[in-house]
Amino acid sequence: MTTSAAPSTSKATPKPSPVYAKTELDVWTLMNQVAASVGAVNLGQGYMSFPPKEFIKHAAQEALNENTHNQYAPPRGRPGLLGQLATRFTGRFGRPIDANKEVSVHAGANEALLSVFTAFLEHGKDQEVILMEPAFDQYTPNVIMAGGKPVYVPLRVTSDKDPRENVISSDDWKLDLAEFEAAITEKTRIVVLNTPHNPVGKVFSREELTQIGAIAEKHNLLIVADEVYEHLTYGVEHVSIATLPGMWERTVTVGSAGKLFGVTGWRVGWAVGPEKFISATLSAHTRIVFTSNTPLQEGVASAFRQAPEHDFFEVQRSEYETRRNRLMQVFDDIGLPYVVPNGAYYLLVNAAKLKIPRDFEFPDFIVERGENFKLVYFFIKYFGVSGIPPTEFYSEPHKELANDYVRFAFCKTDEGLEEAAVCLQKIKKYLKETSD
Ligand code: PMP
Repeated sequence: MTTSAAPSTSKATPKPSPVYAKTELDVWTLMNQVAASVGAVNLGQGYMSFPPKEFIKHAAQEALNENTHNQYAPPRGRPGLLGQLATRFTGRFGRPIDANKEVSVHAGANEALLSVFTAFLEHGKDQEVILMEPAFDQYTPNVIMAGGKPVYVPLRVTSDKDPRENVISSDDWKLDLAEFEAAITEKTRIVVLNTPHNPVGKVFSREELTQIGAIAEKHNLLIVADEVYEHLTYGVEHVSIATLPGMWERTVTVGSAGKLFGVTGWRVGWAVGPEKFISATLSAHTRIVFTSNTPLQEGVASAFRQAPEHDFFEVQRSEYETRRNRLMQVFDDIGLPYVVPNGAYYLLVNAAKLKIPRDFEFPDFIVERGENFKLVYFFIKYFGVSGIPPTEFYSEPHKELANDYVRFAFCKTDEGLEEAAVCLQKIKKYLKETSD
């Protein structure tokens, strides 16, 4: 029997929810496509262009060979990985962490974040979540999907130096505490704190975290600490807010094996916190993805076990520091200032001095995304090096704060960085005085 063409009801054909109806490409796909179209050196998206260390790859290969590692994992996670995470966080947090109550394993930090938001926000109640801008671009849609309302507080550049002319520190980007507190209402439930920060590279100091924590405590907020770059700091200490007095009780800390072991495609992440938070997060996770993949959880557990004999975390940290220093040197040589990242693997370059030739043409799909997209498009097309427009990390009213910046990722091979260095030399001819 064939189905009739005309529906037997007057109901309209289902339409996508406004959250997903936008056909606009996400920034990563768009910029990757532009980069690929000219064969640009890709310093855009933050994935590693170098392979994982051999022992890490072998850990995953061996896991797949074990028959039982090819079936569902328990929703909370494979016991071996939960045990490794409990040991790691017992050391880092200076308190015993219970693997079966205070940890959950997720499909990347992204899904851990979505699960926390889902667990602690209710639809239809306009519950608010404070996001500090620039804010990693998944936060906003994830908060909205969970029924919450994002409220934005931008980090402010406090340096006496003009960032269009001078190198400044990521420490110069500060949260204005009065502005933060003013954004909190009766409806605020959560504050998201990302340290080390993407894309600024800021590592919040103990003092800053203490102040933020005091405000969170005063207003009884849940702190979601996104610490996916906890292992990558350069000359400064990474402090987990959960370790400060009174903060464990109000914090869920999120992490990522993708970042920690250089395997962003494995999609393994975690959440750590008091049982009262993790059990609800786990319930949400169970209904979102049910469980994260088994073999790569086993691979991560094995990588954790083997990491000390390879001095892995320290070697990796110093390799990233070398890459960071090399990319900063490239921009020193060209004469474009930047924000020195104290952590993570991004460099925000201030390109206000760049003069785009008047006759350079931009396609409509770039023009409609604003000035910052035009700047990054120019970098890709003219210099053959791709970056990411950081305005994408801002809400509409604050976008202009990032108009002069391009974010470059330095989780790239030495060859890739050297190739970029050669391409970027061409910039020198296009620099103007900012007072023009
Ligand atoms: N938080 C931040 C700040 C990130 O930069 C990223 C990845 N770019 C994530 C979370 C997501 O991590 P994962 O790949 O483990 O989902």
